[in-house]
Amino acid sequence: MGKATVRVRARRGADDAIWYPFTQMRELETKPQLVIERGEGNYLFDLDGNKYLDAVSSLWTNVHGHNRPELNRAVRAQLSKIAHSTLLGMSNDTAIKLANKLIAIAPAGLRKVFYSDSGSTAVEAALKIAYQYFQQKGGAFKKKRRFISLEQAYHGDTLGSVSVGGIDLFHEVYQALLFDTVKLPSPHCYRCPYGREPGSCAKFCFGELEPVFKRYKDECCAVILEPLVQGAAGILVHPPGYLKMIRELCDRYNLLLIADEVAVGFGKTGTMFACEQEGVTPDILALAKGISGGYLPLAATLVTREIHDGFLGEYTDFRTFFHGHTYTGNALACSAALANIELFEKDDVLGKLPAKIARLALKLEKTARLKHVGSVRQKGIIAGIELVKDKKTKASYPARLRMGNRVILKAREMGLILRPLGDVIVLMPPLSIKPAEIDRICDVVHDCVRELTDD
Ligand code: PMP
Repeated sequence: MGKATVRVRARRGADDAIWYPFTQMRELETKPQLVIERGEGNYLFDLDGNKYLDAVSSLWTNVHGHNRPELNRAVRAQLSKIAHSTLLGMSNDTAIKLANKLIAIAPAGLRKVFYSDSGSTAVEAALKIAYQYFQQKGGAFKKKRRFISLEQAYHGDTLGSVSVGGIDLFHEVYQALLFDTVKLPSPHCYRCPYGREPGSCAKFCFGELEPVFKRYKDECCAVILEPLVQGAAGILVHPPGYLKMIRELCDRYNLLLIADEVAVGFGKTGTMFACEQEGVTPDILALAKGISGGYLPLAATLVTREIHDGFLGEYTDFRTFFHGHTYTGNALACSAALANIELFEKDDVLGKLPAKIARLALKLEKTARLKHVGSVRQKGIIAGIELVKDKKTKASYPARLRMGNRVILKAREMGLILRPLGDVIVLMPPLSIKPAEIDRICDVVHDCVRELTDD
């Protein structure tokens, strides 16, 4: 194990006015927050000048690195014209340009862009659109009021997106406030709900799921899922063919498919959008996080023409989508998003990814062999390393040990920023990550896991 590279001066804990998200504030009384002052490329710098490799791309958002001159220039240029004007009752040319660009790069068939400002709001809009679409069709379609979602799903923190979520630790307490959904087991191959071995399973899942679709088709309007990888659930990589199978079932039983690519969109799985890998066009696509290159809060909900046109009518038909946040279509955020997409093209970001993805896979092989690493799951530049107490039985560590957290705190001392999901160590570096930086991330994680789980 190398020497710690980080020296943080003592700061008093809980001495600022922020109530931090997903944080037990009491812990800050003794362990103050790391305070970031600036960023450069794939690195973050704290108040003491310590340098950290941003191995989770600032909560899965950053794409081309921090402080990118091209993105800075675009935002500055927009700022010199206007920062914000409303999309309620008028438009702005940057939001129009971006919408056209999103339609051009999104899976074919998506034709209209509804803007909002976070992953949660992109999902909320998607859910309301799907629901209202069938309500407006009338007749028996009005019974289609429920959603099908996956167990352990995570789609955001607002109450609609929590309703279609399934992470008990975050969601259970709000149960009385949530609407009821039909839950499908998530295709978690390491802990297969059907006790199957990975490989031959997509067909098997199909057989298990079809009766659920058949049974609930008249009362459900849509299925929502994260395509290819369930991120917050612990980087659960779906078996190949799973998404395509869900698309087929949606078509067969007249349900809309909502793909939540908030986490996996913008190159993270190796293609611009995860849906592309299975040749699937969802009816509704939710985007956020990487959309602005990790610069500014922005989200988009894309829909097909058919869905959009279901809302057309005279004003007095009241088929309008009565929904829209104040900062919808914010010009500064849209300018960053346009520059983000341009950089994908200019730098051939997707063309350079396969080599990085292969390197990550190769480097993780050694870690997968560690005694307390139960499973290493990777899709594209996203990886999850699940720590287990017992590799044979797959028994988890007791929650009170907080093994995942211990590993990431150790890694931080070595100059690596990570954030675990329980005992899953998540790696999701910016797409601009360099081969030597991939090596460093993997080496530090390997050493930290080995040191802390050695028994
Ligand atoms: N959907 C998915 C798949 C996510 O991973 C997240 C955030 N991690 C969200 C939605 C919610 O996004 P936000 O935090 O921007 O509201």
